Amino acid sequence: MQSVINLPPQFQKLKKGHNLYLLFVGLCGFVFVGIGIVQLPNQSNIPNLLILICLAAMAEVAAPFLNVGKTKVAYEVGTAVSLAAVPLFGAATGSLVICISGLCYWLYKYRTTPFAKRRWDQLIFNIGMRSCAIFIAGSFLYYSLHLLDSENTNIVILVWILAAIILDQLNLWLLIILMRLLKGKEINPLSFWAENRWAMIVNIAVESIGGFALATALAQYGRLGIFVFFLPIGLSAISFQLYVRRMRAHMDNLEAIIEDRTQELAGLLKEKDAFLAVLTHDMKTPLTSINLYGSLLKDKPHLASENPRIVATILRGQKTLTNIVNDILDIEKLESNGALPMQVEPLDFGVLLSASVETLHAQAMKKDIVLHYDAPISEIRVQADRSQIERIFQNILSNAIKYTPEEGSVFVRVKTQEKHVCLEVEDTGYGIPAEELPYIFDRYRRVKKHVDKASGTGLGLAITKGLVESHDGEIEAQSVEGKGSVFTVKMPLAERSRLVS
Ligand code: ADP
Repeated sequence: MQSVINLPPQFQKLKKGHNLYLLFVGLCGFVFVGIGIVQLPNQSNIPNLLILICLAAMAEVAAPFLNVGKTKVAYEVGTAVSLAAVPLFGAATGSLVICISGLCYWLYKYRTTPFAKRRWDQLIFNIGMRSCAIFIAGSFLYYSLHLLDSENTNIVILVWILAAIILDQLNLWLLIILMRLLKGKEINPLSFWAENRWAMIVNIAVESIGGFALATALAQYGRLGIFVFFLPIGLSAISFQLYVRRMRAHMDNLEAIIEDRTQELAGLLKEKDAFLAVLTHDMKTPLTSINLYGSLLKDKPHLASENPRIVATILRGQKTLTNIVNDILDIEKLESNGALPMQVEPLDFGVLLSASVETLHAQAMKKDIVLHYDAPISEIRVQADRSQIERIFQNILSNAIKYTPEEGSVFVRVKTQEKHVCLEVEDTGYGIPAEELPYIFDRYRRVKKHVDKASGTGLGLAITKGLVESHDGEIEAQSVEGKGSVFTVKMPLAERSRLVS
C-alpha cells in the first residue's frame, strides 16, 4: 500500500504501522497547533507571547550545545516556556509555542543538509508528540488553575507538578510506542521507561519549577518578569557552555595524550618483537653448536681429548649465551636502579685498557684489522669498579672491530686533561647514518644496515653508557657513514692523580 503523502525515502522505509502512527500523532499535534493559530487574534498580549516564542526557540536551539561528549544533558527549558504560556494564553497556544520552537530547532539542526535528506519524519513526529503532550497537560493545568483556589501557593505548585508529570509521561509514552512499533520486541517499554527515570525527574523539575516561576513572573511583572526570570538562566547557560568548552578541550587533550601513549606502546612492542627476533637468532647459533658437539661427545667421549676445538667451541657458545643473558639482566637493573652494584677501588686506567686491547688483538687479526695503540707511560689513576671498566673497554673496542670491514684500522688513544681521562676509539668502519646516530645508545637499537653485517643484541652501548654514567663519566659518538666512527669516553681522575697532573 502506498503512503498517504509522498514523503522522502527514509520516511517510506518505515513499515505501515509506524507510518500510520507517526501521521496520526503528527496530525493530532497540528490540529492543536491550528487551534492555537486560530485563537491568536483573540490574545490580549501578543508581544509577550512573541517574546515567549523567541525564548523557547532560543532554548531549543541552544540545547545541543550543552551536550558533553556523548552524554546528553537534559535541558527542557523550551518545554517549560511553552507550559508557562498556558495560564495566560491557553493550552493550544502552548502547543503553538512548542511547535514553533521545535521547528526552529529542526531547521537549525539540518541547516546544512540538502532539503530532500532532512528528517521530515522526525519533524512531524517530534512536533506532533510535543504539541499533543502540551495541549493535554496544558488543558489540565489551565482548568485546574481556574477551577481550584489559585491563591493557595501549595495547591498551585502541586497542579504545576502534576501538569509536568502528565506532560513528561505523555511525551515519553508516545515515544515508547513509536520505538516499539519500529523495533518490535527489542524494546521493552517498562525497561525503556526505567532507563529514562533520571531524565524524567530532571525534566519534571525543570518543567514544573521553571514553568511556574516564569508564568508567575510574567503574570506579576510582565516583560520585566520574563527578563528577571531568564537573566540567571541565560547566564548559567553561558557559564555552563564555557565549562563544557573547557571540558571538551581537556578531553581533547586527554585523547591526544592517550594517542601518544598508544603510539609509544606500539613502538615498544615493535622494539620488543625486533629484539626477540635478534635474540633468538643470536642464541640459536651457539645453542646449535653446543647441541651438536655435546651429542658428539656423548657418543664418542674420547674426541674431547683428541680434538680440543670441540670443547673450546662448546665453552665459547656457553660464554656467548651467558653474556646475552647477563646483558639482559644488567640493562633491567640499570633501568630500575640507575646503577649496577659497584666495588670501587683505585685503579690504573692505562693498565686496564692495555689488557683489554691485548685480549681483542686476536679478534682484530682475524679480520686483518690493525689495532693502533700507544699505552700511556705514566699511571692514570681512577676510582672505579674493575669489572665494569673492563666491560666498557670490551664493548667499545669489540664494536670498533665488529663494525669495521676487513683490512681496516682501529685507533685507541688516551689523553689526560685537568680532571679527566679521555679515551678515544676511532675506526675506519661502516660508520653510522646521521639520522640513526642520536639513538645509538638506546637499548635494543641497532643500525639497520648493520644487522646483516654482524650479530648483536643492541644492548652493549646502552649498558656501556649506564656504566660510564655511574662512574660520573660521559660517553659520546661521532660518525660519518662509510668513513668510520669515533667513540669518546670521559671519566673523572682520582683525587691524587689530579694533584700529580
Ligand atoms: P650490538 O653491537 O650488540 O648490536 P651495541 O649496543 O654495542 O649492540 O651497538 C648498537 C649498534 O650501534 C650496533 O648494532 C651498531 O649498529 C652500532 N655501532 C656500535 N659501535 C659502532 C661502531 N664502532 N661503528 C659503527 N656502528 C657501531
